[in-house]
Formats: sequence, C-alpha cells, structure tokens
Amino acid sequence: MTTGSRDVVIVGGGIVACLSGYLLGRRGYKVTILEADSLGSHASGFAFGGLDPLTGVGLPEPLLDFSLWCYGRHRSLARELHEATGIDVGFELRDRLNLAFTDDDARAAKQGIEWMKDIGGFNVEWVDNSQAREIEPQVSGEITGGVYAQSPAAVEPYRFILAAMRAGERYHVEMLQRRATGLISDGDRCTGVTLENGSIDAGIVVLAMGPWTGLASEWCGVDIPVTPLKGQILRMRTSHDPLKLSVNYQHSYVATKSDGLIWAGTTEEETGFDDSPNSAARDSIMADFLKMIPGMSDAELLQQTACLRPMSADGMPIVDKIDGWDNLYVATGGGRKGILWSTGMAHTILDLIADGKADVSGAEHLKLDRFPAKV
Ligand SMILES: Cc1cc2nc3c(=O)[nH]c(=O)nc-3n(C[C@H](O)[C@H](O)[C@H](O)COP(=O)(O)OP(=O)(O)OC[C@H]3O[C@@H](n4cnc5c(N)ncnc54)[C@H](O)[C@@H]3O)c2cc1C
Repeated sequence: MTTGSRDVVIVGGGIVACLSGYLLGRRGYKVTILEADSLGSHASGFAFGGLDPLTGVGLPEPLLDFSLWCYGRHRSLARELHEATGIDVGFELRDRLNLAFTDDDARAAKQGIEWMKDIGGFNVEWVDNSQAREIEPQVSGEITGGVYAQSPAAVEPYRFILAAMRAGERYHVEMLQRRATGLISDGDRCTGVTLENGSIDAGIVVLAMGPWTGLASEWCGVDIPVTPLKGQILRMRTSHDPLKLSVNYQHSYVATKSDGLIWAGTTEEETGFDDSPNSAARDSIMADFLKMIPGMSDAELLQQTACLRPMSADGMPIVDKIDGWDNLYVATGGGRKGILWSTGMAHTILDLIADGKADVSGAEHLKLDRFPAKV
C-alpha cells in the first residue's frame, strides 16, 4: 500500500502521538498517525490518570518548570477538547494523601516536601495521624501521619486520548491501523515509513512508539535509550464509601475513579515486552491497598490490567530532532508521568517542527544528546 504524501507521519498512536497530531493538524499540517494496534490499547488508555507535577523523577530539578507547565496546560486543554469534541476528559482537582507508617517514613516525607512549600498554587503539608484520618477516615490507623497535597489533579486517560484523536480529526488528522517496520531515506532526509504491507511517504516523521521507540534505534542509527517497565492496576468494587482523595504509599496508590470503582496500583516490572497480568502483581498490589485502607477487605476484584511504561535511561522524557537527520523527530520516555507530561511533549514537538525551537518551559532538558552516544 502507498498512500499519498503526508506533511507529518507519526509512528505510534498513544497519547503523545494523538496530542501531537491534534496540535500539528490545528497548525495546518496534514498528519497521519500509524498505530499497530488500536487507539488507547496500551499504557495511554489504561493508566491511572494522576496529574501530580510535584512528585516523580527529575524533581525539583531539572523538571519542575516542565512539570508545572504540563499541569497548567491540562487545565486549559480539558476545556478545549470538550468544546471541540463534546468529550469530558474527566479533569478534576484531586488531593493526595501520601501515608507514612514508620518514624523513618515520616522523617523522609517531611524532608521531601521542604522545597514544595514555595510552589505557588499548591499547598503541601505534613499531617499527623488524627489529622490524616479526619481528611480520609478510611486510611489505616497504623500510620504515623502523611503528606497532604492540595491539589494535584487527574484525568480519565482513555477519554483523554479519545478526545485528542477526535479533536485532531476535525483538522483531518487520520489514524491508519498499520505497523511501521522501518524508515525510507534519501541522504539525510527521511522520505517515508515502511509498513508491514507497503509504505507511506512523509515530509516529516515523528517516532512516538512509547516503550517500543527503542526498537527504532536500528531504523535511524541513533540510540534511543527507552525500555518497557510493566505496571499493573486492579479495579475493584466495594460497599464502602468512595475515597475522598488519592491515597498513596511508596510506589502504590488507590482512589475511587469516576466509574465508581476503586483503582489500586501498581508495580514496576522489568519483563521486556510481556504485558500480561499476573497473580504476583495482584497479590502485591492488594497487600499495599489493604495496608493503606484496611477496612476495604470486602473489595471484589473486577479487572486487572497490565501495560508498559516507556522508561528512558534517566526516567525523563525525550523530545528532540534526531541528530544527523533533517526531518526526523522523537517523542517518548513519559515513564510513570506520561499522561501528565504528554501536553508538554506534544507542544515541544509542535514547536520543533513549526518553529525549529521549543518554547515550552524546561523543554531544553528533554534533549536526546544528554545520553552518551553508543558506539
Ligand atoms: C499502570 C500504569 C499507570 C500509569 N499511571 C499514570 C498516571 O497516573 N499519570 C501519568 O502521568 N502517567 C501514568 N502512566 C504512564 C503513562 O501511561 C505513559 O507514560 C504514557 O501513556 C505513554 O504514552 P506514549 O504515547 O508515549 O506511549 P503508548 O501509550 O505506549 O503508545 C505507543 C503506541 O505506539 C504503538 N506502536 C509501537 N510500535 C509501533 C509500530 N512499529 N508501528 C505502529 N505503532 C506502533 C503501540 O501500539 C502504542 O499504542 C501509567 C502507566 C502505567 C503502565
């Protein structure tokens, strides 16, 4: 198959691709997204959807400005996508209570929030056991206290990616259900993408294949250090009151989502591209969930999902023009924060393609050349 030439071909159809497609389409580019499976069928459709710019890798330096920029853009984008498509992406402010069970946990938590006190728009404070249980009476009585953060936010990831794609379609962005297999080049220019059956011509190519982007290193001859990190989530029904906020403990979290279900996660598993759920993950998530909210031992497991985060070698996103190529770009490495960071990643791609330089705060920290070149 050979379709007509497109201004921009984006390989991969996750949230980074769909949002980039929308922004580029709105700017007047003719965009095709190539997706091997279907819309939202990987991490972008199954993530938890927390938008917390104050936790995670790269904070406070070098990623704080970028993270706050991304968070701010989610607020305006939710309205914009709703007006464009009628889809409510479920953006809401959702407070977070990060539990501490030991004195050591408490000391580390108190130290860890010192720098957050100066961030405008957020209130982050240590609360003791009784204050924490006033905020959310269902948390464990065993805690020494917790960090109470007002207000990170949340979206519903599947509705978010659906809205991004639908909004792009208004600007003639198309998604082809095709697996890309390589690049076609003419000197330093990438002139198209090869597919399992045929090829597609392209003026510009963006590699946004999530955890699979590392495989494109061979296509372009430049190392893109991204690997998959599996994460699993349990969706459960319980007769107890909904949780008032997101409750966290170390790498685990639980919240009542807009479907009325309790969602609890997660794991970090280095198992290659295997994205099947397993009982070991179920048991470890359940153990953390009941440690946080012991009264919900009646919870009935309805669904267990597993998918792969794109983890770069330093955990931070990679958005850049690829060295040695005139018109080849990469946008990947969202890791545990790829829904939050998708807004900044997509705007950086738009800026790089349309203006040759990125205007998003902190985008200079997303460059590929921060990693040593592999020989
Ligand atoms: C359990 C879990 C919970 C999470 N919770 C949060 C959260 O609360 N907040 C947050 O900000 N982030 C969260 N994340 C992270 C977030 O989901 C990811 O970082 C983000 O979705 C990655 O988006 P992406 O577009 O880069 O990649 P993906 O969503 O993986 O999309 C890449 C797409 O490329 C396609 N593709 C791959 N190879 C090819 C090819 N050769 N040809 C065509 N198509 C191809 C794939 O089929 C896939 O659909 C979570 C992740 C997991 C696993």
